[in-house]
Amino acid sequence: MLQTVVSEETGVAELVRLSGVNPNQCYQCGKCAGGCPLSFAMDYSPTVIMRMLQVGMLEQVLSSKTVWLCASCKTCSNRCPQDVDVAGLMDALRIMAWRKGSVDRDNRQAAFHRAFLHSIKSHGRLYELGLALAGSAASGRMTKDLDVGLPMLRKGKIKLLPPRIKGRRQIKRIFALTMESGGEQGE
Ligand code: SF4
Ligand code: SF4
Repeated sequence: MLQTVVSEETGVAELVRLSGVNPNQCYQCGKCAGGCPLSFAMDYSPTVIMRMLQVGMLEQVLSSKTVWLCASCKTCSNRCPQDVDVAGLMDALRIMAWRKGSVDRDNRQAAFHRAFLHSIKSHGRLYELGLALAGSAASGRMTKDLDVGLPMLRKGKIKLLPPRIKGRRQIKRIFALTMESGGEQGE
């Protein structure tokens, strides 16, 4: 069994505290990577990420594409025979990557996450057009989705104006409480 003591110096201990997940529970069976729908696009599969954390390679994990490509589908967590919440660990890794400044300015997946949270915080639910424009801006190609977006706008599939829902003040409060408890939010 591949087991390595989690070291304070590596910062992995902080990850364990933040996520409540201990990578040392992983025995490298590979079931998480086998079921992950996005592992084909990742630089390190979820199983490899677990092993990297076991040996203290936190910096490499934080700057990996994997952390931002993960779609939080939880397939990995559901398949794990050790009940390791790999998806929860990926969430915590994204938070740590933001806090430690490990995210490249041109990381489009990270920009998408940020824009998504900003949309929910501002409007109480997703504003699709705003998210699409933010995604295009992050890619540096403002016109890249026009061929799809314009027909959808014409047919009313996406709205020109942001949604107005009840309870937006409560949603902002949820974001504020999350910040107070040490979480992250879109700006
Ligand atoms: S939660 Fe992320 S890592 Fe896990 S299976 Fe889904 S995409 Fe892959
Ligand atoms: S499924 Fe669980 S035990 Fe198996 S490699 Fe993934 S995290 Fe480790």
